[in-house]
Amino acid sequence: MTLNRSPTPLRRLDGKVAIITGGASGIGTSAVRIFHENGAKVIIADIQDEIGQKIADELGDDVSYIHCDVSKEDDVSNLVDAAVHRHGKLDIMYSNAGVLDRSFSGILDVTKSDLDKVLGVNVMGAFWGAKHAARVMIPEKNGCILFTSSATTNIAGLSSHPYAASKCAVLGLVRNLAAELGQHGIRVNCVAPFVVATGIAGSRDPMQAEALETMVTTWANLKGRVLKADDIAKAALYLASDDANYVSGLNLVVDGGYSVVNPTML
Ligand code: NAD
Repeated sequence: MTLNRSPTPLRRLDGKVAIITGGASGIGTSAVRIFHENGAKVIIADIQDEIGQKIADELGDDVSYIHCDVSKEDDVSNLVDAAVHRHGKLDIMYSNAGVLDRSFSGILDVTKSDLDKVLGVNVMGAFWGAKHAARVMIPEKNGCILFTSSATTNIAGLSSHPYAASKCAVLGLVRNLAAELGQHGIRVNCVAPFVVATGIAGSRDPMQAEALETMVTTWANLKGRVLKADDIAKAALYLASDDANYVSGLNLVVDGGYSVVNPTML
């Protein structure tokens, strides 16, 4: 008997309904494609309406687009209600949308507008996503809430103070939510990416961009390649799937080992 048939690809999210915020670019778009390939019905939520709608149209009936500014509670509440109205349930809330400010130079350069922008999207957006997902998941006693944190939760000096603080806040929220929502059958986790070349890179302070470029190139030379958005989306896929059924409160660092390597090797 021959066993050399190519295996049927696993559809790890068959029958599941997922919202992915920030799905119109970068890591979010990778997650939209990979979750969809794995059988999920996906709702892209973003503020880039034209691009988000185009991605949804390309992928077909199981993917749709809804305008949502994650920093506005009403938008997020309406988004969750629309998902449940459309598909009858919500299994996965992936709060991935995020922004960066340009105040890398130091604490003396931080402004209120930087804080309002970064904390408004990265932290308040995470809160509204979690709150409204939990509102519909608790009665079902089932659900998965995911966030994109950052390697800044592990390594200092990678980004601006507001951004680093925002991502550590997300991690704190993840752990507290995992403790609260576990009793309701809801798992809460985040993926922490090292540097990926996505739309967010355009917001970097030029000094920071140059320093990161040198670091990323050195690391890529050692590893043989750079980190890609798909690497992050695949980690999110694992956390969203039933394979991670007993995983909650985790900050899954995807950095190729950068944060644990002996600095003299770099
Ligand atoms: P990106 O800029 O390519 O994508 C971010 C998306 O979020 C965009 O589509 C943008 O329109 C959307 N967005 C911004 N503000 C929004 C709002 N108020 N409401 C709804 N959507 C909004 O960047 P990315 O790298 O794909 O970022 C995804 C996540 O990954 C972010 O949370 C980011 O902080 C995190 N992250 C990125 C890196 C990296 O190096 N790229 C590293 C660590 C963490």
